[in-house]
Amino acid sequence: MSHDDKHGLGTKAIHAGQPPDIHGAAAPPIYQTSTFSFENAAQGARRFLGEEPGYIYTRLSNPTIDMLEDNIAALEGGKHGLTFSSGMAATNALIFGLLGAGEHFICGDTVYGTTRTVVENYWSRFDLGFDFINTADLDQVESTFKPNTRLLFLETPANPTLRVSDIAACAEIAHRHGALFCVDNTFMSPILQRPMEHGADIVLHSMTKFINGHSDVVAGIVVTRDQELHDKLWKVHYNLGANMDPHQAWLVLRGVKTLKLRVLASQANAIELAKHLEGHSAVDKVFYPGLEDNPGYEVQKRQTDGPGGLISFELKGGYSAGQALMDNVKLMTLAVSLGGVETLIQHPASMTHSGYAPEDRLEAGITDGLVRISTGCEDVEDLIADIDHALSKC
Ligand SMILES: *Cc1c(COP(=O)(O)O)cnc(C)c1O
Repeated sequence: MSHDDKHGLGTKAIHAGQPPDIHGAAAPPIYQTSTFSFENAAQGARRFLGEEPGYIYTRLSNPTIDMLEDNIAALEGGKHGLTFSSGMAATNALIFGLLGAGEHFICGDTVYGTTRTVVENYWSRFDLGFDFINTADLDQVESTFKPNTRLLFLETPANPTLRVSDIAACAEIAHRHGALFCVDNTFMSPILQRPMEHGADIVLHSMTKFINGHSDVVAGIVVTRDQELHDKLWKVHYNLGANMDPHQAWLVLRGVKTLKLRVLASQANAIELAKHLEGHSAVDKVFYPGLEDNPGYEVQKRQTDGPGGLISFELKGGYSAGQALMDNVKLMTLAVSLGGVETLIQHPASMTHSGYAPEDRLEAGITDGLVRISTGCEDVEDLIADIDHALSKC
């Protein structure tokens, strides 16, 4: 392995998981192959028995994909990575692998919209018990556990209200009840938050977002530390078949090299933009964990290396102001998703969280006038001029 555990995150993002290439290639090679030949029958047999390391078939593992898995595992402070064709494939594989009929699952109530949709509409058909709760409220977390609870799953900051949950406290509660604890770390990236340092067993990412960072790939990963848990999930992974393609892995590897630069640039812009929006007459409230009056400010400061690149805010003019803002930005891209180098703006009530029942949406704090911005890496003066112009039409 070409990286050192003691290296910083910027160094690991560039080098971790990439062994020296036999030809000295500086960029990782793409092993665009579905299958791998054996030297003889005995070797094939040993590989299938797991007695000899080596590749068999790309749905099981592939050298380019391994490089990406090792890279992200190193950044997160984990040991193993398992990549998937999308973030949702990772989430579904996790639920499929860890939960069975008659068991119970606790999920944050402000999670990625589709995460909630698949649990309520699909996993519910398999006699799986579940509760969606406010994981920022530790009393609620504690009291929701049942003897058959196997998994606590949350996002922090949560999508899209940026509510902060205390990772170390949630880990303690989950472990005391004999459950596993997974954090969807998509919003922060390992540059700003490494949940395993605070006790999480599993970290999940939609690598579509900050990790790839260029709005051109859909991909997911699950990172673990425990060998047994990894082996269990790996079997689920290759049997389920929602694996990555080697070329997709290569693109993400290329994106991750600049992860630290992009995340820090996006965060610096978000800090400026959040302060600016806070003082704007068309804005009722700004939700950004980096603002001192945010209820999650102290916890966020303790468990992260910064407040991140996502901002949400409430417009005084409600739904119609939200629509007017969307229609009047020129530089910001009106699109869902996040974590790319370009600034994206969206309206959760009509877009990402339209799958929620209206009462669940309000319960999760997603009001009609809520707008989310994923701050990109443009010059902040240009972003401020764009939003000011659009807000003047609200
Ligand atoms: C986008 C996203 C997902 C789903 O990932 P896909 O790659 O779109 O399948 C899950 N969690 C969070 C927080 C996300 O932002």
